Amino acid sequence: MTKETLLQMARNTAAFAYAPYSGFRVGAALLCSDGSVVTGANIENRSYGLTICAERVAIATAVSTGRTTFRALAISTPDANEPVAPCGACRQVISEFAPPELPVYCEDPQRPGVELIQTTVGELLPFDSLQGLGNDH
Ligand SMILES: [Zn+2]
Repeated sequence: MTKETLLQMARNTAAFAYAPYSGFRVGAALLCSDGSVVTGANIENRSYGLTICAERVAIATAVSTGRTTFRALAISTPDANEPVAPCGACRQVISEFAPPELPVYCEDPQRPGVELIQTTVGELLPFDSLQGLGNDH
């Protein structure tokens, strides 16, 4: 599984976003340790606060279907002008299941298939003082 393929899956999934309020679609593709890929799209809510990000949809889908270890995460934001990294809430949830070295690819919306940000969970959530308290990956 190449990161280009994973980014494409994230981009394809963004089409399923329910984003009538922001118009900001997000797709996530999570490469699981067993080689399968679980995707998620953002699901907004008129209360705003109950909106669920694409990354958390993917994590919840994976975990609730028995997949709790991962190799990579790709994120596509086709409505953005520049790559967008996961929000703080998602960083915390991702870190529950992903080791600090998990690669995270954020697609350049101007150049589909090309990641402009390649980072890790550890870089997105440094000094994670809760590391080791929960899932030890
Ligand atoms: Zn988020």
